Amino acid sequence: MTDTIAAIATPYGSGGIGVIRISGPKAFDIAAVLFSTTKHWPKGCKKLESHKVYHGYVFDRKNISVIDEVLLITMKAPSSYTAEDVVEIQAHAGTIVLRTILDEILSCGARLSEPGEFTKRAFLNQRIDLTQAEAVADIINAKSVNALKFAASQNLGTLKSSIQELRQKLIQFLSLLEVNIDFPDDVDPFEPSQKEMELVDDVLKTCREFIRQHEDACFLKDGIRIAICGAPNVGKSSLMNRLLAQDRSIVTAIPGTTRDPIEEGLNIEGIPFVIADTAGIHQTDDLVEIIGIEKAKDHIIASDIVLFMKEPDTVFSDREFEKMVPLENQAGKKVIFVINKIDLDKGNLPTLSEKYRHIPTIEISALLNKGINKLKQKIVTISIGHLDMEKSSVIPNLRHKKALEQTVASLEAVKTGLANKLEEEILAIDVKSSIDFLGTITGETASLDILDNIFSNFCIGK
Ligand code: GDP
Ligand code: ZN
Repeated sequence: MTDTIAAIATPYGSGGIGVIRISGPKAFDIAAVLFSTTKHWPKGCKKLESHKVYHGYVFDRKNISVIDEVLLITMKAPSSYTAEDVVEIQAHAGTIVLRTILDEILSCGARLSEPGEFTKRAFLNQRIDLTQAEAVADIINAKSVNALKFAASQNLGTLKSSIQELRQKLIQFLSLLEVNIDFPDDVDPFEPSQKEMELVDDVLKTCREFIRQHEDACFLKDGIRIAICGAPNVGKSSLMNRLLAQDRSIVTAIPGTTRDPIEEGLNIEGIPFVIADTAGIHQTDDLVEIIGIEKAKDHIIASDIVLFMKEPDTVFSDREFEKMVPLENQAGKKVIFVINKIDLDKGNLPTLSEKYRHIPTIEISALLNKGINKLKQKIVTISIGHLDMEKSSVIPNLRHKKALEQTVASLEAVKTGLANKLEEEILAIDVKSSIDFLGTITGETASLDILDNIFSNFCIGK
C-alpha cells in the first residue's frame, strides 16, 4: 500500500469550510508543491513540519494563480487518522473550489480514494480494529443521542477489548490442547477438568449476553415501530401530525426498508421511533381499499407499539381489537388504548373489556392538543421499561451478532466434546473455529469480502 490517496472529506455543497484529505507517502510533497504561505509565486513554502497548522494559499499551477486561501494541517505517520502521512486542507466549502483543489492534488500523483479507504487504511495499519472502523460509520449515521453514545464507546475500543479478552481465554485453552497434541510424551495426558468446562461456560455466557444486548439495542438504531390504528375518521392522521409537529426526527430516511409515505421518523427524549398512520381497517369490498387494509395489517404486525384509537360514544369490542391486533401477534407487543376527541361531549367513553384491562388508557384531543404529552410519556416508559441501557456499554451490531452465534455453536460443540472426553485433536478444531469466529469481529481473521463489504458502505473521504 504505497500510493497516496485524496478526497473531499466534507459533504457536497456550499458551507463555511470544506476539508480535503490527503494520505500516503506523497502527502507532504504534494502539499509543498501546491501550497504557499505567501500569495505570490514562486512559492514561499518552508519545509512542512508535523502537527502544525499553516495559513496560506493553494495554487493553480497552470495559471499560476491562487485558487483559495486555506489552512493546512500536517500529520506525520503514525500519529494520524490513517497512521500514514496525512495533510488536510481547510478551504472555503464550495463544489467548484474544492473540486479544483482536489484536481490539482490528483495531478500531482495522488489517486482519488475509494469509499471508506481512509478508515480502511487506519484498520490495515492496525491503528483501529474492525469494530472501531464500524463505529466511525455508526457515529456518522447515529439517529439518536443514545445511538451516538454507544457508537462513541465502541469507537474507543470497548467492544474490541471485550472480544479480545474472550479470544485470549480460548487461545490459552487451545495452546494447552496443542501441547498435548504435539508433545504427548512430554506432558501429562490431557484430562478435561472442571476448569476447562468453566472457561467454556464463561465465554459462552458473555457471548450470549452480547447477543441479547444486540437484540435489545436494535431499536436504538432503527427506531421503535409505532402503528396508529382505528376506524376511519377516529383521528389517526390528526394524532400523527400532532406528534410530528413537535418531534419530527431530522433523519427520516431509513436505509434498507421500503418506506410508505405514511411512515415518519420521530424522536422523543432521544429515543428514535418510526410511526405509521394506518388506513382504517374495516370490512370492505373495494379492491383498492382491501390492499390498503392489508398494508395496514402489515404495519401493525411489524410494529412494536400499537396505538389503538377509539372515540367517545363508541364501544370497545374484543373482536374489533383482535381483528387489528391478532392474538398471535399480541405477544411482545405493547398496546396503548387511545380515546380521541374527548373535547366532544358525546356521552360515554369506551372502556376496555375484562380480558384487556391491563392495557393502559390515555384520553386525548388531537384537535385541541390535549393529553398528547401524557401519551408521549406513556410511549417512552413502555419502550424503555425492560431495558437498562445505562448498564451496558457494548452493543454488538448484526454482523457481530452472527459471528457470536457461530462462536456459541462452536463452543457448544467443545462442551459436548469435553463431556464425552473426545480427543484433543477434535476438541482443538472447535476451539480453533470459535477463536476464528471471534476474530472476524475485530478483524484479525476477517475475510476480504467482509472488509470490502464494511468499507464500501462508507462515504468517500471517510
Ligand atoms: P383518520 O381518518 O383516523 O386519519 O382521522 P383524521 O385525523 O383525518 O380526522 C377525522 C376528523 O376528525 C377530522 O375532521 C378531524 O378534524 C377530526 N378530529 C380529529 N381529532 C379530533 C379531536 O380530538 N376532536 C375533534 N372534535 N375532532 C377531531
Ligand atoms: Zn387518516
